[in-house]
Amino acid sequence: MATPWEKVKNPSQGDSSSIGSYANGCLAGGERLPLQGDGYQVIRSERGRYYGNSEMIVFLQQLMKQSRQLKIGNVLVGDIAMPRGGRFSSGHASHQTGLDADIWLRIPEQPLSPQALKTISALPMVDVKNYKIIDKNWSSKQAQLIQLAASDDRVARIFVHPVIKQQLCKAKWKDRNWLSKVRPWFGHYYHFHVRLNCPAGSTTCETQAPPPAGDGCGTELASWSPNYKAPVTSESVKAVKPKPKPVKVLPPMCAIVLKS
Ligand SMILES: [Zn+2]
Repeated sequence: MATPWEKVKNPSQGDSSSIGSYANGCLAGGERLPLQGDGYQVIRSERGRYYGNSEMIVFLQQLMKQSRQLKIGNVLVGDIAMPRGGRFSSGHASHQTGLDADIWLRIPEQPLSPQALKTISALPMVDVKNYKIIDKNWSSKQAQLIQLAASDDRVARIFVHPVIKQQLCKAKWKDRNWLSKVRPWFGHYYHFHVRLNCPAGSTTCETQAPPPAGDGCGTELASWSPNYKAPVTSESVKAVKPKPKPVKVLPPMCAIVLKS
């Protein structure tokens, strides 16, 4: 069943404000990303998920412009958030505050025709079953685009399939600091997910602890592999009682955003 957020067609008035957490919140004063611009196009725009915090819209436009200047290609931007953010009935858990965006890893050289934009399919970078990169689809352009995004101070985290993270870890980089922000997560093999920090001075946006220090290319990454054998310790032998999932209560301000 559709959530009330999925029924709203327009953003609320006023300046952009992200309220609550990435996976439990909403967006006031959502700004629309133009469907086409310097170095990018919005894909699957019929879903109407091209609204974001103004900081996200500026970030994306700058990233795409830079990627055009670096001849990476014409970037295809997927879902950001709904006009007032909020929950989806299926699909994304986060993308609720206008500070998360999905970017396709299929990067055409030129802007697509309106027809091609409608029919183009996503291109997988990972052979998920065999847990390996698809060499004919992956190139340095994807790596460059992820590096460019991760190196931006506004970016908190980037989610990619663990095999993509592995691929990035293998490459030689002058600076590897940005790799700490690139976090392995299943799914994310035909797109990557960019998450921004809360905008400076925001009192309504809930931040997340920064990712662990280091490039994240060691044991933690290896533990995602289906072939990984965890060392047996006294800790892992102890039976772990599953904790009940806490019920998510939406920040009260979001009720106002929805009704305004
Ligand atoms: Zn996403």
